[in-house]
Amino acid sequence: MKRRFFSFSMSFVLVMMALVSTLANLPPERQLSGEAPVRHKATAPSATAAADRPIYKIEATYDHHKDEVTGHMSVSLPKTRSEPQTEVYFHLYPNAFHKWKYGKESKPSRPGYIQVSHVKVNGTPVKAKIRDTIMKVRLPEPLPIGKSAKIEMDYRLRLPYGGTRLNVYKNTAFLAQWYPILAVKDQEGWHLEPYTTTGDPFYTQMSDFEVTFRVPQGYRIISTGYDRAKDYRSPVTIKQENVRDFVAVLTRDYKVLKGKAGDTEVNLWYLKGMEGVSQILRDAAVSGMNFYSEKFGKYPYKEVDVVLGETGYGIAGMEYPGLVTSIPRVPTRKGHSPAINVVVHELAHQWWYGVVGNNQVKEPWLDEGLTTFSEFLYMQEKMKEDEKDLLNRATVRTNEIHKAVGVTSADSLYDYPDSVYGLMVYIRPAAMMFNLMDEIGKDKVIRILHTYYDKFQYRTATTRDFIRVANEVAGKDLTPFFQEWLYFKEKNKKG
Ligand SMILES: [Zn+2]
Repeated sequence: MKRRFFSFSMSFVLVMMALVSTLANLPPERQLSGEAPVRHKATAPSATAAADRPIYKIEATYDHHKDEVTGHMSVSLPKTRSEPQTEVYFHLYPNAFHKWKYGKESKPSRPGYIQVSHVKVNGTPVKAKIRDTIMKVRLPEPLPIGKSAKIEMDYRLRLPYGGTRLNVYKNTAFLAQWYPILAVKDQEGWHLEPYTTTGDPFYTQMSDFEVTFRVPQGYRIISTGYDRAKDYRSPVTIKQENVRDFVAVLTRDYKVLKGKAGDTEVNLWYLKGMEGVSQILRDAAVSGMNFYSEKFGKYPYKEVDVVLGETGYGIAGMEYPGLVTSIPRVPTRKGHSPAINVVVHELAHQWWYGVVGNNQVKEPWLDEGLTTFSEFLYMQEKMKEDEKDLLNRATVRTNEIHKAVGVTSADSLYDYPDSVYGLMVYIRPAAMMFNLMDEIGKDKVIRILHTYYDKFQYRTATTRDFIRVANEVAGKDLTPFFQEWLYFKEKNKKG
């Protein structure tokens, strides 16, 4: 259809492979309908009290002729808050695709947007103020501590063509950040950070979802929830507790290869023309899930989906709870090879982003750095790929970048020029973790990550939390080590 094809020879942004291409002198292979609803019950990991989580109920009808999703959403606010609440903010990310403010090369070929109407709070109609990607809802009366409120609205989502992540391509709709998403309010206040094309500008909280889809005949739904990878009739209700977001791929074209890692069902979804790599990538996905579960702690959900295909300009892969996307092949010196590194990178995000959350806008290194390290560890142990030389060069190069433009590895994503983001945020922190293995031993580094996973699962961790865990597990003060690697502070100087 109208969607522009992304050329693989261009630099990828979101996955490490890609990012290495900004390094000088890299070896080329490193560059890189109306019947009874079917109910799918969710898996319910423990931890976070339900009272602390928003509950989303979404009714969504997909019209593939209009490329539109229309429906109704209600969200019950968590009961826990530190003071009475007078307002609520939502992110309307699809509006970023309306009047595109970013690079020409990533401009959607047809705009997309989301319209919201009939907003009510506990049944009372209220006015919502919408500005670009932010919607403010003033509550009719202050919401006391310990009480919930239900906010309802109708919405109409127009899918862009050639959108980044949110997209429609042939008979497949990629629904990413596709519903009004509650903004996070933490001790720093409301997080209303705008969309940007550098990194993943999303920060969400653990939530419960009940999503009912009505899709055209022949369509199936692949989502964050437990979909069981089998055909079913529309409408379908999918429930999933304790996740940070809810993504869905509505498709008539994808086929599935199933696998199992422990108790977890691993589904590899592919399109015609990808048969040559689908089995290899299914096996890599199973192996990756087993590898990370053994190293860092058990994956707590019943299912994970890997959806092959491009989901926007510059994107090699993307992580969501319970579902990741990946391109099928990566460029090498000899042509192409199956994108094993991309698949295992995105799956590692199930640990670093999915289960252990962080503010991805303010501290993007925390999930991307640990994920890149996890990916490299997998590639080293399972694929016998040694990245030492690459990491050493990245260390030298990032020192030069810091001297030249002042950015560190622990800045917010708005602080980075696109060209250095990957090196600073993905690769240098991965190099840091390998250097930490040299200093305190591999076992201890794995123990640090395992402990960090245990302590912060279903919560939002910070760089300080991570360093505190590292110091505890190592039994010594590693702060100067992290100061040097993340903030470029010289070891023997303070401040
Ligand atoms: Zn990543």
